[in-house]
Amino acid sequence: MRIARFVADGGDPSYGIVELEQDGAGHPDTIAAISGDPLVGPVNYTGERVPLGEVRLVAPVIPRSKVVAIGKNYAAHAAEFNSSVPAEPLTFLKPNTSVIGPGEPIVYPPETENLHFEGELAVVIGRICRRVPRDRAAEVIFGYTVANDVTCRDLQARDKQWTRAKGYDTFCPLGPWIVTHLSLDEVGDLSIATTLNGVPQQSSRTSLMVRGVAELVEFVSSYTTLLPGDVILTGTPEGVGPMQPGDSVSVTIESIGTLTNLVVAEEN
Ligand code: MG
Repeated sequence: MRIARFVADGGDPSYGIVELEQDGAGHPDTIAAISGDPLVGPVNYTGERVPLGEVRLVAPVIPRSKVVAIGKNYAAHAAEFNSSVPAEPLTFLKPNTSVIGPGEPIVYPPETENLHFEGELAVVIGRICRRVPRDRAAEVIFGYTVANDVTCRDLQARDKQWTRAKGYDTFCPLGPWIVTHLSLDEVGDLSIATTLNGVPQQSSRTSLMVRGVAELVEFVSSYTTLLPGDVILTGTPEGVGPMQPGDSVSVTIESIGTLTNLVVAEEN
């Protein structure tokens, strides 16, 4: 199942189930509205069903408390910064105010001269949990979506820690929807690719993560309680690079979808 949040006719966002023609839906791509919040409780179809192209998708989840991100989780990415894979997972937080949806602008701040894309697999947590052993990780995962861990590379180096460099408003695009039907084995080997203005930049597979999804859920939940709607970003492969205002950046993960955002200069 693909769960999205959407806005139609300028109303409030609501959740919906996306049905794609490519999956044999028997009709063009549509979104069927559901009532309630699938991260919290049961939902029901409202009966409203509209063409996907006629609605505006927004972030499929606004994390209840946090986005926990993993640094240097692909060896080839660590190597491109003359670094190595850390002995333990390296984690940091992105504020939930950094989250935007597909098609929403990434705002290029005036304080940076080196704004980078980082395409990543995102894990959406479905249950309140703490100290989850890796062999039970599937029980607490709601689904998966696509993320861009937008980073001011110069501020990241200058600040020595990453809160500002990765925490600006708009620096955590998520979407286009949450896929709930993939097993841990399936997400363990998906292609992941980033393009800038259509030109390939990153191309890898999730099988090249140093620590896989289950191990990351175990590690993150060893020190912090995860809430339904919290998100774990699993790290980026090699090939990161700069973006400029006017650029269009797309991250595609096999079996999940494509997340596209435009970069815009900050208005004064
Ligand atoms: Mg990252």
